[in-house]
Parts: sequence; C-alpha cells; structure tokens
Amino acid sequence: MSDGYRGRLAPSPTGFLHLGHARTFWIAQQRAEAADGALILRNDDLDRARCQPEFVAAMIEDMQWFGLRWSDGPYHQSARMPHYIAAFEMLRARGFIYPCTCSRQDVLRALDAPHLGEEEPIYPGTCRPRSGEKSAIRNPQSAIPQNWRFRVPDGDTISFIDGALGAHTEIAGRDFGDFLVWRKDDLPSYQLACTVDDAEMEITEVVRGADLLTSTCRQLLLYRALGLREPAFFHCPLVTDEKGIRLAKRNDALSLRTLREQGRKPEELRGAESG
Ligand code: GLU
Ligand code: ZN
Repeated sequence: MSDGYRGRLAPSPTGFLHLGHARTFWIAQQRAEAADGALILRNDDLDRARCQPEFVAAMIEDMQWFGLRWSDGPYHQSARMPHYIAAFEMLRARGFIYPCTCSRQDVLRALDAPHLGEEEPIYPGTCRPRSGEKSAIRNPQSAIPQNWRFRVPDGDTISFIDGALGAHTEIAGRDFGDFLVWRKDDLPSYQLACTVDDAEMEITEVVRGADLLTSTCRQLLLYRALGLREPAFFHCPLVTDEKGIRLAKRNDALSLRTLREQGRKPEELRGAESG
C-alpha cells in the first residue's frame, strides 16, 4: 500500500445523518484533500438492533448531497467479523482481557452512582482476575456469549499529540476503567472493531469528534496490546447550537434530511459557526 495520507469516514447507520457528524466528515475530507491522500468510507453497521439497511442508502445519499466524496469503499463492518474474532483471540491469548458477567445495573450499583452522564462508568473490577491469571473460557462464538473486558494498566499515563487540540493525557484506571471489547450479544465493541479496522485499512490519521477523546485513549491501549501501528488523531471540537446543546444530542431537527427539505444548501452548512 502507499505510504501517503489515508483518512476515513466512519458513519453508523443508526438513524439519519446529523449535521454534527457531517461537519466532522467535512473536516476529514479537507484534511485528506490537503494531503492529496485517500479517503475511505466505512459503514459501521455492527449493531444489528440499531443499524437498519434503509439508513445505509439514506446515509450515503445524504453524504453525497453534503458534498462528501471518498476514494474507497464503502466497506461494511458487518462483513468483517473474522477480523474482529482474530483480534479477540490474540487479546485473550495474551491475557489482556477477561470475561465479565456484570450487568450494567451491577456496575452502577457497585459504584453507588445512579447516573454518570454519557461516559461509561469506571468498572469496579468485580470480575477482574488477579494479575497474571489468564482466562480459560473460550469466546466469542461459543455457546454462551458474554461480555469481555480489557484490563487497563492502572495508573499508566496514556498520551498523544492531537492534531487539533495538542497534547492530551489520561490516566488509565482513573479517567477510564476496564472497557468492553466483546459484548454478550456476540459482537465486538466499538473500541475493538474500530481499532482493528483503522489499523487494517492503514488509516494514517483518524478525524473524529472531541467526544471520543477517551475512546482514543482506550484504543491506543488496544493498538499496543495487538502490536498494531497507531495512526495520528485529529479531534474536532463539537458543534453546539445557539443554546449550547451538542448537535449530535438532538434528533431530527438537524438531520441532513430535514435541513435539505427546508431548502438549506450544503455550502452554508459546512463552515464553523461562532460559539
Ligand atoms: N461509527 C462511529 C461513530 O459514528 C465512528 C466513530 C469514530 O471512531 O470516528 O460514532
Ligand atoms: Zn463483571
């Protein structure tokens, strides 16, 4: 493969595409163009319950309407299960992950925290084996799928230089805890699938929203555990509306569909607004 710039657009077809996502994609496209590089479209459609086929076509149409163009793809995550299973097996063989039987409720109860916002709560370690112990249970695709978590190196500093925001540092075990790599509905987690794909698609720079900064730190641990080459990262500031509410949090009012039906033009929607 070439050693030039390779970026990606990775929408999830869980609903109509949002202006917040589209603007992040626009920045990704501009960066790929500026570097005269490739831009890959990846359809992050693993979540069977939430991803619907009719949204895939709508998503592509909306992206094209917005002016987005890609040089490669779409690739579909749902067609890439063997890659995720191979990565899972490697993590298991290397002792990085363990099965977890806690429900989300168990985790919240153990923390005595009724509500922790949108970030995943720090896992209290209920099912964590003693360090060095490897799990004998085989998954995924076994009779009883279950959750598997990555054991984070408590106290380790995870740092990277972000292309947009500069130096970013988080402490494993304090800013985020043991996170899911495999889910009990027998699917890889977003963290695992995304890391495997970005590495195998030889993405050189990941452009994503700043709401994913902590996910980037989790994924850096996966790159290291799997022996994969880390891409560069560029986290876009989140776009908020006039009331300061994040666009991605609002529903159809700011879907590209709705804006287009209202007669808005892509050229006026792409740029950064003040505030
Ligand atoms: N499909 C993910 C999303 O839409 C991708 C996030 C990312 O890694 O850029 O949230
Ligand atoms: Zn557990």
